[in-house]
Amino acid sequence: MGEGKENDHTVVMFPFMAQGHIIPFLALALQIEKRGFNIVFVNTPLNIHKLRNSIPPSSAIRLREIPFTGDSDRGLPPDAENTDVLPPSLIFAFVDSSISLKPAFRDLLSELVHSGAPPLAVISDMFFGWSADVAHEFQIFHTIFNAAGGFGMACYHSIWMNFPHRNSDSLEFLLPGFHESVKIYRTQLTPNMLEADGSDPESVFHHRMLTSWSNSDGILFNSVQELDWIGLNYLRREIGQKVWPVGPILLHVENSVRAGRKAGVSLEKCIQWLDSKPPNSVLFISFGSNNTISTFQMMQLARALEQARNTNFIWVVRPPLEYDITAEFKAEEWLPEGFIRRVVETQNRGLVCVQWAPQLDILAHKSVGAFLTHCGWNSVLESLSQGVPLMGWPLAAEQFFNAKFLSEEIGVCVEVAKEFNCEIKCEDLVEKIETVMGEEREKGKEMRRKADEVKEMIRDAMRDDEGGSKGTSVVSMDEFLNVALSRKENMEIGM
Ligand code: UDP
Repeated sequence: MGEGKENDHTVVMFPFMAQGHIIPFLALALQIEKRGFNIVFVNTPLNIHKLRNSIPPSSAIRLREIPFTGDSDRGLPPDAENTDVLPPSLIFAFVDSSISLKPAFRDLLSELVHSGAPPLAVISDMFFGWSADVAHEFQIFHTIFNAAGGFGMACYHSIWMNFPHRNSDSLEFLLPGFHESVKIYRTQLTPNMLEADGSDPESVFHHRMLTSWSNSDGILFNSVQELDWIGLNYLRREIGQKVWPVGPILLHVENSVRAGRKAGVSLEKCIQWLDSKPPNSVLFISFGSNNTISTFQMMQLARALEQARNTNFIWVVRPPLEYDITAEFKAEEWLPEGFIRRVVETQNRGLVCVQWAPQLDILAHKSVGAFLTHCGWNSVLESLSQGVPLMGWPLAAEQFFNAKFLSEEIGVCVEVAKEFNCEIKCEDLVEKIETVMGEEREKGKEMRRKADEVKEMIRDAMRDDEGGSKGTSVVSMDEFLNVALSRKENMEIGM
């Protein structure tokens, strides 16, 4: 599957409505387009509208809208089309009601099929396992693109399919079917997992979602075989389908708009500021596309940053949990009195970005020494692909398992939060920031060395030399496209 070879085949791509899903899907779409395929990118009207600015001029990706009316009975506002406008309490209702997109997606596939050019493949979101039945109704090859990591997803799968924490009272437990994994602590489960008993709405949703993956013709993972083989192998066993690790799939098109989100600070300003700082002296802080922390935690973090005097920082500040998600930035309520004046303006030690920052460009800058992150998988890959070690402050979903994997198996992360919803005090944060950022600390040096090794591993997986030498992620992508193409050829000749 050579780069840029023109063909008539169309791949339909359909991410869930959240930046952490849309960004890697767009990056994958651009990669597949580069290999000569046409792309139809499907989403709801507001997301498509925002995406129009993010498609590079050189791309011919076609954007298609399908309607989504939400579910007002479950409290979803009628214009909510992305998790970034929803409070955490409504995220599950939003995910669960996305199955209402099924008839409109079916109509779209039917239209494409009857236009005389049936798509070669559908690549849909991990939450849209139901789309396999729709694609197969039209004899279209179907895959899921999972933007989460293999290890985190394996833990998630084993827990939601088996509820191992319900079989004993002990604090720690092993994961059924995942004997290669480390022990998981009860305190690392999010409340929805802890309370799940198999019959509640979240259990029903997860059971339906995870079993539907086996109906798909394979799963693409935004991951790297050499890094994440433990979890990927578990998923191969459990799902019984091909698993193709094709990552890292990174969206390099930054500009000021990243898949429809405008940064609170310009890229130029960030780079100029970073250029003025010594190598490895800046801690980048961000909790992903929609998570945030409480006011108490913001205060503790700000105090820690003030006390860690040798560390500079870029902090993406979002309204704390107690506030409306769209609230205006209120330094005087969210941060210690005088923090901005003293630390940001007088000492020039920090840059505070409101809501959103050009993350990948920041991580790629040589002045960035570590990333304090919620451990969303895109953020993890973006950091490791630049050799930047992590401080893990997981908040939801499979993020605790990602942090555990990165610290216990790979050695590139210090866990800041080891338990769900634990209180993290200023002194603890100062100690951990100094451990990771301090030039003279052995632990920090060792993490940086390991992060550099992972960066090389990632680079190797993406190798695609003229002479034909290919890394494992490139080979997986070739294999996926070749399987889809031969499936179509076989169908056309009636096999
Ligand atoms: N992101 C960004 N700027 C921000 C916050 C997030 O560009 O200020 C991007 C980040 O680079 C990543 C995505 O949003 O690509 C977040 O995905 P991740 O899987 O890390 O977390 P999620 O948002 O899904 O929890």
